Amino acid sequence: MNIILMGLPGAGKGTQAEKIKVNYPIPHISTGDMFRAAIKNETPLGIEAKSYIDKGQLVPDSVTIGLVEERLNQEDAKEGFLLDGFPRTVEQAVALDEILAKSGRKIEKVLNIDVDPSILLPRLTGRRICKSCGNTYHLVFNPTKVEGVCDNCQGELYQRSDDNEETVGNRLEVNIKQTKPLLDFYSQKENVVENINGDQNIDVVFSDVQKILDTLK
Ligand SMILES: [Zn+2]
Repeated sequence: MNIILMGLPGAGKGTQAEKIKVNYPIPHISTGDMFRAAIKNETPLGIEAKSYIDKGQLVPDSVTIGLVEERLNQEDAKEGFLLDGFPRTVEQAVALDEILAKSGRKIEKVLNIDVDPSILLPRLTGRRICKSCGNTYHLVFNPTKVEGVCDNCQGELYQRSDDNEETVGNRLEVNIKQTKPLLDFYSQKENVVENINGDQNIDVVFSDVQKILDTLK
């Protein structure tokens, strides 16, 4: 089963990836992990990627695609994989198709964890951190007993600037713009894109995921 997992930040993609990893014998391949491993193992592409990262530059597509190709050709990915964080652009999606075609493979499903962006804002902006001890809380999912006061040390809570409404809103907007052409690209292929309602209990979302993955066995 060759799967791509998609979803906006806060849609619960990470949680579903964990559950898929536990329940299906396929490796979870996230671009972040892949970069870290290649850099740690000092592979030629890893060294190249590091040279860009060290300079604070974006890693060019040729390097990223090369890393993905190496990873997808490793033994544990031969029977299937769950790709997370790649492709990000239509160009990368085309390159991915080419890589897979070399070994007679193709993307079977794109699982899109679909959540209305308007409900993501409170999820993503609710994090609060204690100024004194660093404990993290969430206004909705993990609130303190007294609003604005740390349960652990009675310290004052603050919101990181990364978590404010404007920054989060911009991040969501960029993601939505990025995702749209990709979903259009995969929608041209028959029965590939599966939109899963992400605005449900985590286990219900996963049972929807399972129903789709179980058709691939
Ligand atoms: Zn505290």
